[in-house]
Amino acid sequence: MDEALKAIYDEVSKCNRCGFCQAHCPIFDLTGDERNVARGHNVHVRKLLEGALEMGEDFKDPLFECLLCKACVANCFPGVRTDRNVIAGRAEYIKRVGQPRLMRFLFHRLLPDHAKLAPYVRLAAVGKNSGATRLARAMGILSWFGKDLDKVEGILENLPTSFFRERASRLNLEPPHSKLRLAYFVGCGFNFVLPQVSEATLEVLVRVGASVHVADNGCCGLPAHGYGDLEAARKMALKNLEILEKIDADVVVTDCGSCSAFLKEYPELFVDDPALRERAQKLVKKVQEFSEFMQGRLPGAAPGHPFSGKVTYHDPCHMSRYQGITKEPRNLLKGIPGVSYVELPEADRCCGAAGSYNIMHYEQSMKVLDRKMEMLKKTGADILATECPGCLIQLSYGARRAGLGTRVVHLSELMREMI
Ligand code: SF4
Ligand code: SF4
Repeated sequence: MDEALKAIYDEVSKCNRCGFCQAHCPIFDLTGDERNVARGHNVHVRKLLEGALEMGEDFKDPLFECLLCKACVANCFPGVRTDRNVIAGRAEYIKRVGQPRLMRFLFHRLLPDHAKLAPYVRLAAVGKNSGATRLARAMGILSWFGKDLDKVEGILENLPTSFFRERASRLNLEPPHSKLRLAYFVGCGFNFVLPQVSEATLEVLVRVGASVHVADNGCCGLPAHGYGDLEAARKMALKNLEILEKIDADVVVTDCGSCSAFLKEYPELFVDDPALRERAQKLVKKVQEFSEFMQGRLPGAAPGHPFSGKVTYHDPCHMSRYQGITKEPRNLLKGIPGVSYVELPEADRCCGAAGSYNIMHYEQSMKVLDRKMEMLKKTGADILATECPGCLIQLSYGARRAGLGTRVVHLSELMREMI
């Protein structure tokens, strides 16, 4: 067993099997199956590392059904990092059994380079918007998405055909008298699917006096890491590290709560390389998620933008439990004139998006989402704000599906309108 696996073995061995995590796991709540809860994952991974368990489907399915939401970690007395243990189990799975070629192509060739990924997303957008993907599905193409593709297609209403990076050149990113130089890290979800969010973020950043350099970054690496392809995640991290070092900004800001969480985890990817680890640690000191950066910077309401309504907030798992950012977005919302803030019950419970979980495990994901919508109904909110593209897409779909009139937006979109 190498050093990295030895560390995982020590971590899984910390689990005392108390079962306290059962009450907090959204997936165990649905299935009641011990293999789906943190205790089960930790036992599985320990047995796997001891060589007492075969790498069969019985092992794979529960392992890949975990949301990586960390609700178990937050409620575990010994603080077992089950999220890391699950990822290590997935990494072992793909090391021993392999991963689909398409996933490898995505993680190693497309995601690291937005320019290479763009034509594929554009093709998907044209297909989706014209109905051609229905034809492709009928022909058996896209079958890797699983049997629920019919329903999965409905998660997004439409896909934009012009991406944020193409639109960014039209924005003025150099306000006069700016003293603060920001590097804006572009999340793939906002670049390709929700470009209006990035536009709103940049407008707000410039309005508060920052000059913004849009980084030429690729994917942060989180999707590959969550899937267990640690090699691809490290490669993406290294590439982004080099890009961000060259910009040498005062602060690296991103409005994607998942990207900021993973950028802050870069040092952990380089535990076996002290020099790279040190460079990653320097970067981490500069990384701020949008609402972190905006603390104390909220200007007053702009004339002609009166707003009055009830607003609530959903905590993305990667913001609340991965970064401990919970007060900051609420402070900002409460500071917007006219906003009547109402707390969402179970605001930090996972919405079921969890990266591509809603594509790969559609039915399970929808059950998790239904509970979130029940809570949203209780608030009677006009607007639901959040800060992660996966959550935004999932919650918008949930509101449409539940027939709620609630508008789902990124915090920066709301701020652009109100200040
Ligand atoms: S993961 Fe934590 S809460 Fe769950 S059984 Fe193990 S020690 Fe207890
Ligand atoms: S990370 Fe979330 S889904 Fe996975 S075992 Fe823990 S609580 Fe359950």
